[in-house]
Amino acid sequence: PFEVLIVGGGPAGVASAIYTARKGFRTGIAAERFGGQLNDTLGIENLPGTAYTEGPKLASELDGQVKAHAEIDMMNLAAAEKLVPAEKAGGMHELHLANGAVLKARSLILATGARWRELGVPGEQEYRNKGVAYCPHCDGPLFKGKRVAVIGGGNSGVEAAIDLANIVGHVTLIEYDSQLRADQVLQDKLRRMSNVDIITSARTTEVTGDGGKVSGLSYEDRESGEVRELPMEGVFIQIGLVPNTEWLAESGIALSQHGEIEVDGHGATNLPGIFAAGDCTIVPYKQIVVAMGAGSKAALSAFDYLIRNETA
Ligand code: FAD
Repeated sequence: PFEVLIVGGGPAGVASAIYTARKGFRTGIAAERFGGQLNDTLGIENLPGTAYTEGPKLASELDGQVKAHAEIDMMNLAAAEKLVPAEKAGGMHELHLANGAVLKARSLILATGARWRELGVPGEQEYRNKGVAYCPHCDGPLFKGKRVAVIGGGNSGVEAAIDLANIVGHVTLIEYDSQLRADQVLQDKLRRMSNVDIITSARTTEVTGDGGKVSGLSYEDRESGEVRELPMEGVFIQIGLVPNTEWLAESGIALSQHGEIEVDGHGATNLPGIFAAGDCTIVPYKQIVVAMGAGSKAALSAFDYLIRNETA
């Protein structure tokens, strides 16, 4: 059995593992895909201390750092399916994997991350990272002076449009519904910006490109049925971030209405000895540096739990 078992091998999980290994704890990492969202990320320019890196390069550096610790048992391609919490503090939690294995640990750190909800239209996959983007904090500066669209008129879409309007040349916000759903104060702010158009009742039908990069998008006007095309260099899709927590539905771990794991300021969940960190939690702002910070915090909380609770 492990003293600390971490579920997820993205920035949050790896940061946790480094901390618990350096406390001398026998640490396991069970990850469906080591590196997590880093595998899908091109340039990273907002990680302090690293002026520029790329997702796969950062993931391989994290892999090297994990391998340098003999205390860490790294299990890649290991998807967790079910969590059975310990019956009392100090007891063993059980993690059931899709491959049938059952891992036991005195403490757990859940760091299963999240995934962007995709639009599911032609061109979205083809032009991913070639004009199709999901994170305005990450990729906004790449579109300085250019025309971009933001798909989605909820809080994240309208915030993204306000953020981008300060950086890019022009923003077109596209909403499926007949009205925006964002908080009024954000809508008012957006409407006051001079380089923003808002189109409602619009169903995005395709991201178009020249084979190498995005050149525009098509949408259907849901009132007239007419299909229109807009020239565009970038398309930011902001229709939701989905936490990878479906597998916890029956575990007793408290989740928010959006499915995010509820944690306190120490990264503790509602169950003793189970902590969580990163994009799968209610933490605001889903970013690498935030996930790494949360992972190290959850690890120190697990350490604190382990030294205070004798094995039951
Ligand atoms: P993740 O990276 O999502 O890792 C989750 C881990 O859990 C993975 O190993 C996954 O396989 C595993 N997992 C999931 N479910 C299970 C399961 N059931 N069992 C076992 N393992 C499981 N942030 C920045 O700060 N700067 C950027 O420039 C930037 N650019 C981005 C670009 C793109 C295209 C994307 C998608 C994201 C970007 N982000 C960026 C956001 C950043 O990648 C995330 O905030 C960060 O990766 C979150 O780390 P995490 O460890 O919480 O989750």
